[in-house]
Amino acid sequence: MSLLDRAVVAVLPAIPRPVVRKLSAPYIAGPSLDDARRVVAELNAEGKTATVDVLGEEVAQASEAEAIAAEYVAALEAFERDGLDANVSVKPTGLGLKLGYDLCKRNVEAVIAAAEPTNRFVRIDMEDSSTTDDTLRLFRELRDEGHARVGPVLQASLRRTVADAASLAGASVRICKGIYVEPEAIQFRDDQEVRDSFVEALELLLDGGSYAAVATHDEWLVDRALETIARRGLAPSAYEFQMLLGIRADLGDRLVEAGHRLRIYVPFGRQWYEYSMRRLQENPKVAGYVAGDVARSLFRRR
Ligand SMILES: Cc1cc2nc3c(=O)[nH]c(=O)nc-3n(C[C@H](O)[C@H](O)[C@H](O)COP(=O)(O)OP(=O)(O)OC[C@H]3O[C@@H](n4cnc5c(N)ncnc54)[C@H](O)[C@@H]3O)c2cc1C
Repeated sequence: MSLLDRAVVAVLPAIPRPVVRKLSAPYIAGPSLDDARRVVAELNAEGKTATVDVLGEEVAQASEAEAIAAEYVAALEAFERDGLDANVSVKPTGLGLKLGYDLCKRNVEAVIAAAEPTNRFVRIDMEDSSTTDDTLRLFRELRDEGHARVGPVLQASLRRTVADAASLAGASVRICKGIYVEPEAIQFRDDQEVRDSFVEALELLLDGGSYAAVATHDEWLVDRALETIARRGLAPSAYEFQMLLGIRADLGDRLVEAGHRLRIYVPFGRQWYEYSMRRLQENPKVAGYVAGDVARSLFRRR
């Protein structure tokens, strides 16, 4: 962690809410579903699809988890009404995983029940390592119960991921580096090891006939993915790239222009402040990017 990153993490709680809102504005659609609809419509007009995340993690009560599930249902209904090209990404802890596996599963099923009639996909985000086994179990049970349009996420930074990728052959899987900082015993520390794990997992998924969602803004990884796609002669319908709202839009535009599918992850919701702070505190590297944004905005003001 650089000194600058460390400094940013240390002062985070002291940053006034409106400043956090301003800093996080490019990365979050806004507090309401209308904000998400507006942003998705803009992305669709640029030839990009979206996956929408209702903000809310680690809820304290079953009713909060059910309320989040209801927000997803409302979002899916709105996308259908508006003719928007968007699906959803759910977080197991937001849907109650820490309160009980069965509660979480019921809530995911409620979201799937709203998504399936309109052929929309439900991606189950991967959270910290205390949830990995339950999240993969959740996915496998849902798949085995006949839900075809649901898929998990793998985090290349985890040492277990290549083995998980081998076992998920055929599933629709998002592969990303992983945002959570975990003990070294289970997570690579070296950036190149993470990249190598990403590429190996991607190759295994494609070998197994998976639809792969390549979620990264790392140009080195994007280039490796493009190489493997070209080598295998994959049609653009056999994979997609994914990026977070507000990050490396230039790289995303290049992919779209070259004919690749690009899906943008669009978070929205009342819990934007908690989400921003958590992301920043969990991963000091992100704090470093924010520090960079602040520095750039200072320069722009001159
Ligand atoms: C669509 C999508 C879904 C994701 N889902 C999950 C998930 O379910 N679970 C999970 O643990 N993680 C998830 N992530 C986060 C992911 O694990 C990484 O933490 C994040 O994508 C940064 O890694 P990177 O591959 O972009 O590489 P990095 O090396 O971190 O970034 C490459 C470049 O991208 C730019 N960049 C990256 N992040 C930022 C930022 N926050 N602000 C400004 N610039 C930035 C910088 O220019 C940087 O040099 C997801 C990411 C994406 C794109």
